[in-house]
Amino acid sequence: DLYGATRANPPGRDYSRDSERAAAARTAQVGAADTIAAGPIVGGQLLAGTGPQPVHSPVDRSRLIGTVAEATPADIDRAATLARAAQPRWDAAGGVARGRVLRAMGDALEGAMDPLIALLSREAGKTLNDGVAEVREAVDFCRYYAHLAETQFNGLQPLPGPVGETNHLELRGRGTFVCISPWNFPLAIFTGQIAAALAAGNAVLAKPAEQTPLVAAEAVRLFHAAGLDPDLLALLPGDGATVGAALVAHPGIAGVAFTGGTDTAWGINRSLAERRGPILPFIAETGGLNAMFVDTTALKEQVVDDVIVSAIGSAGQRCSALRLLFVPEESADELIATLTGALDTLVIGDPADAATDVGPVIDADALAMLEAHRARLEREAMVLARRDPGVWSDRGYFFGPVIAEVPRADFLAQEVFGPILHIYRYKADELEGIARQLADTGYGLTLGIHSRIEGFANRVRALVPAGNVYVNRSIIGAVVGVQPFGGEGLSGTGPKAGGPHALLRYSVERAVSVNI
Ligand code: GLU
Repeated sequence: DLYGATRANPPGRDYSRDSERAAAARTAQVGAADTIAAGPIVGGQLLAGTGPQPVHSPVDRSRLIGTVAEATPADIDRAATLARAAQPRWDAAGGVARGRVLRAMGDALEGAMDPLIALLSREAGKTLNDGVAEVREAVDFCRYYAHLAETQFNGLQPLPGPVGETNHLELRGRGTFVCISPWNFPLAIFTGQIAAALAAGNAVLAKPAEQTPLVAAEAVRLFHAAGLDPDLLALLPGDGATVGAALVAHPGIAGVAFTGGTDTAWGINRSLAERRGPILPFIAETGGLNAMFVDTTALKEQVVDDVIVSAIGSAGQRCSALRLLFVPEESADELIATLTGALDTLVIGDPADAATDVGPVIDADALAMLEAHRARLEREAMVLARRDPGVWSDRGYFFGPVIAEVPRADFLAQEVFGPILHIYRYKADELEGIARQLADTGYGLTLGIHSRIEGFANRVRALVPAGNVYVNRSIIGAVVGVQPFGGEGLSGTGPKAGGPHALLRYSVERAVSVNI
């Protein structure tokens, strides 16, 4: 069962039901009065680090939700030394023993679902529904990688050979992995990277995104409470330029897993290339320039639902989110009218309120970047609809979603990370040229196609490279073990997160050939 088909997703929460809405209001209050003190966690101990900084909520700039101290160079060295000493035993214990710990972590996350949803909402501005999905995904990663550890790391795999010779292949851990994770999935991707590295027999030095250290600290505490030797997982919060750079350059590491921007991935790649010593694996999941192609046979209502969810849902703060919608000239007017109508009905506000569709963006920089891009759209394109977050702007980093029509198919050359949908109306004879232009950008993350004609879908798919192709559905929310996630080219190196090959780059292969 390589694909984990027997694995069951943990139950979620259904906030469309009255009883669950009442529960949601309570969920949002879990730990509301607490502030969390986060900092380096090394050998299971919370260390002082340097310069504790306040952590405020993007929902309400005046609301202090915790503090975070940065890891010092000495903290990093100490964490690397402990990891190095603990890793061989963990590796030798085998996949079944490691799977047990990862399954315990999955159960711990599931048990802490409500407080984690509340914290995701406070620290990352996630809506309750996005919080539910995120905790479930983190649980899925733990269970799925446990399953891969149990099946792929269970000793010597027999290979064929001549009579008198036995041949085997085994997968082993590499040593200590650095895991650097993004703020947009501060629990699921943080946990997923760590679970993959651990499942393959590695120790982990984890650096969470600067914006979301608190939920990361909670996840590390849960890992340790679930029975993981604390020396195998250290939390090292801090800036990319200081802590991130020190980790990637550290002589004690055996590989790096990173999810974030393409620019940062280039920097890490450069740093790894400058090392003298073993040549280390680099697993990167980066940005995309994600498009959806609609033809005249597409079902309008379905297109509208899927476009709004993909482009505006999660405030557009997913790597997988839709940025560019290509609609045929013939149906453009009708589709645009319905889309802008749908945009008007969205509820912008407190993400901890179950009725909210769109919460804040992550921080002041993100807000300023989006405002600058909207100004460009006002000058050089046509803004068709724009929501005003009203009083919410006075409290937090709220950006009103925008739908704009662009004058050229290649108007958007780079990912703009937020709730802005760019629409281009294409003439039938332009399709191939547009697809080629898109391919030439070098990105290859998600691709959407809406059509009832298989030939149309196949044509687009053949022209536009993408790690995840979605036909007649939304292009977000890949499910672990169901839609292994990750891009090509500028969008990432693979292997795909939540896919059957996920652990291979985290491990070494050894062939053993014995003559009797
Ligand atoms: N896996 C997520 C999805 O399918 C996106 C992950 C990301 O934004 O990095 O929507």
